[in-house]
Amino acid sequence: MKNFRVHIRVFFIALAVLLVAVLFDARTSPGQSKRVARPVAREAGVKPVLKSTGGPASRGERNALLSIELNWTFGGKPQRGWSLYKPLINRLLDTKRDVASDGFASALARWQKKAGLVPGGVLDEETLYSMIKTWQDARLKDRSPASPEQLLTAPISDFYDPTRAEELRQIERDTYAAYKRMVSAAVSNRSLGLARGAKGQLAPGEKYLKIISAFRSREYQEKLRRESPNSGSAGLAVNSPHLTGRALDLYVGGEPVDTRDSNRAVQVETRVYQWLVSNAERFGFRPYCYEPWHWEYVGGKRKAEGSRQ
Ligand SMILES: [Zn+2]
Repeated sequence: MKNFRVHIRVFFIALAVLLVAVLFDARTSPGQSKRVARPVAREAGVKPVLKSTGGPASRGERNALLSIELNWTFGGKPQRGWSLYKPLINRLLDTKRDVASDGFASALARWQKKAGLVPGGVLDEETLYSMIKTWQDARLKDRSPASPEQLLTAPISDFYDPTRAEELRQIERDTYAAYKRMVSAAVSNRSLGLARGAKGQLAPGEKYLKIISAFRSREYQEKLRRESPNSGSAGLAVNSPHLTGRALDLYVGGEPVDTRDSNRAVQVETRVYQWLVSNAERFGFRPYCYEPWHWEYVGGKRKAEGSRQ
């Protein structure tokens, strides 16, 4: 009888150990954790709001969360949130409203409808990709390299680096003229606080809107690529628009050309960047959404259309 009790006890202890082991394994097994963790992480931003309001999250609440939490990719690189694109998004939606507001959601729903999307007023992955396509489609289409006669050498005073070599200061002629018109307009807009020179030009000591890089020959572009091999497909392009002489990298704050989110977050908050988002198009320049400093001259398309402004 005693033996029997001991056996029963040992049996139950063994069973308990086995149960704990099975439960523990189910929680920590890598295959399992991956399957479970992904949907949870995706929804994580939305859930607390559902709880706190006791009902479905409003469009504004969902937009505010997605602006920092949405997982998406650009050029193969994982991205989080779309808050870096707020100035461009507001421009696209023609609204100045905060992303958490219902006014923003309504403006977004109108845009979604025009874009053939479900007009839910929530800026989800599909909507973001559709916006990026809109921006990308507006960029330079003809990327044929500039011929020498299309280029001029701009004075060193236009450049961010006061020691930039002469062969790196070439720009396509029309692009340069448009750039100078745009800078004049920015300088005369006192709210930007740009330092003015004696003739009303951008002062030599002013960094904002100075040119960091313009025309890049194929050889020079290859050299840059060799120097930053890890920049990936969202980084330095093989067929760069800088080959055309119509792409300008302009100083808009922070580290001049650093794609880290923390740096771009500084850049997109500057008055100069936000002014460019609202005004560069009048001078024929279009943005590259991923790089706040990169602008491409596509010419005076809007004037030719004659339908707006
Ligand atoms: Zn560039």
